[in-house]
Amino acid sequence: MTCRLVLLDGDETLWTCRGADYASLLRPPLRRRDADTLEDTRGATIALRPGARELLTGLQERDVLIGLVTHNDEPPVLAALDGWDLRDSFVRLSICWRPKGGSVRTMLRDLARDGIEVRPEECLFVDDSSFNINDVSDIGAGCLLMGGDIDDLLEVLDAVDHAV
Ligand SMILES: [Mg+2]
Repeated sequence: MTCRLVLLDGDETLWTCRGADYASLLRPPLRRRDADTLEDTRGATIALRPGARELLTGLQERDVLIGLVTHNDEPPVLAALDGWDLRDSFVRLSICWRPKGGSVRTMLRDLARDGIEVRPEECLFVDDSSFNINDVSDIGAGCLLMGGDIDDLLEVLDAVDHAV
């Protein structure tokens, strides 16, 4: 099955926070410390994980759509995506606290409404939580556990290339 949509978790998958347990606890505005690291008003940081930009570019080069599915409040996540200049990399953002399986279903319905038909089996979901992996796997999507199936974001490209 060809992979047409890669769905990425945020915390501990696409990015890592220091001084805050997860992105929602950051206090925007965020200022740029370096290309991939943003700092909030109290000195906590959010940084793209190694390989994140290469992964996003690699998926775009392969015409694979990218979605973000993160359990967080919207404002700090949007501030971070804008700080990295990455908001436009994603065809859809799901930034909420609902179970991720349902969020992915909603995202696929929204895409279909826009004329982009993607079946669950054509999705690859990447998350560091086995709870979320199980939830999204239940709707029929392919799943990779960060820190289990893979340790490096660039391995997602290998999985996309070898999806059959
Ligand atoms: Mg996570």
